[in-house]
Amino acid sequence: MKIGSTPIHSIQHPVAKEKSVSLFVKREDLNHEHISGNKLRKLKYNLSYAKDHHFDTLLTFGGAFSNHIYATAAAGKANGFRTIGVIRGDEHLPLNPTLQFAKDNGMELHYMDRSSYRLKNSGTVLNELNSLFGDFYLIPEGGTNELAIQGCVEILNEEELNFDYYGLSVGTGGTIAGIIQGLNGKQNVIGFSALKGNFLEAEINNLFRQFNLPNHQNWHLNDDYHFGGYAKAPPELMQFIAAMEKDHQLPLDPVYTGKALFGLLDMITKDAFPKGSKLLFIHTGGLQGRSGFGL
Ligand SMILES: *Cc1c(COP(=O)(O)O)cnc(C)c1O
Repeated sequence: MKIGSTPIHSIQHPVAKEKSVSLFVKREDLNHEHISGNKLRKLKYNLSYAKDHHFDTLLTFGGAFSNHIYATAAAGKANGFRTIGVIRGDEHLPLNPTLQFAKDNGMELHYMDRSSYRLKNSGTVLNELNSLFGDFYLIPEGGTNELAIQGCVEILNEEELNFDYYGLSVGTGGTIAGIIQGLNGKQNVIGFSALKGNFLEAEINNLFRQFNLPNHQNWHLNDDYHFGGYAKAPPELMQFIAAMEKDHQLPLDPVYTGKALFGLLDMITKDAFPKGSKLLFIHTGGLQGRSGFGL
């Protein structure tokens, strides 16, 4: 699967200027015309694995606004797979733009009640899905597995490994795990949790353990900027997103990238970085989800 190389843009933000740090954005949201962002990176090696092992069907899980469902539908279609999206909760008609896009790309939508959905990785639920849909290649919710991490290592190319700090949004931790692997213990990585609670650090450590990857010490998680929880978007956040778009031509989404960049700028304000630091914010995409917030 071809993924375009993405530009780095300088952001002339007054806060960065005042604190004498330089801020750049890696525009992973521009890595593909239709799919875009980290979900495409996470799918890349999963799709080649599925193809090499002669699967013709991909099955995965997600909520009704999921960037991962959206990307799987489009990437599946582009690569000749049948796709099945198991969606948490009941069907609501008309379909929201995310699910309509998935359907238009040929994805079969299968709704699952919330209590079964919680057990989605159990043998019982998977057997049931097998009898409904036949043999499939399973991609986990959010797309995170070993092959996804391998794909995310490729987000930064060799010339992009020399910033002092890297900041990005974290959901399941697959993307940051790839960034950390790519940097190979160098520089500093800050993950901004899109979810409330401090369990994500342990989950990222788990990914390294589970897949036998070296766990470097040059990263940490900041969970101060979830804005009330996953997919919560208070007015202060929405105003920030509107201002970044108007003043810096940078489109952000309210679930992931808006919160993370707000957090990075707030850390700059609070003198978290020495003068002269070079910061790279990784824009992980997710712009399709803006429609769910009226953007
Ligand atoms: C899914 C997603 C994330 C989180 O990625 P993880 O690998 O699950 O941590 C961040 N940003 C955007 C835009 C996403 O869609």
